[in-house]
Amino acid sequence: MPVYHYRCHTCGTEFDVLHSFEAALPECPECESEEVKRLIVSAPLIARGAETHAGDGRRATKEQLRAKWAEETPKLRKKMRDKLGEDVVQRLPTLNMDQD
Ligand SMILES: [Zn+2]
Repeated sequence: MPVYHYRCHTCGTEFDVLHSFEAALPECPECESEEVKRLIVSAPLIARGAETHAGDGRRATKEQLRAKWAEETPKLRKKMRDKLGEDVVQRLPTLNMDQD
């Protein structure tokens, strides 16, 4: 359930209320006025969105790393082969991870 931030028109008090979107406007906790205005959805909901986004980011990063590895390994292997020779490269397990 989201937290909503309100400001009372009567006395200016700002307050947070936890309720569903469809619920009626709450009364001001200070002066019990019903002249309140919903301002923003407060931090907890935004924080959850950020967490979800970070989670997606981590997955993307892992995939990017895998893609980067797949892209870089043949280049690196070629470089090593040019420098050290095919026999040496074939004995390096880290350079043959993508060859089963
Ligand atoms: Zn008030």
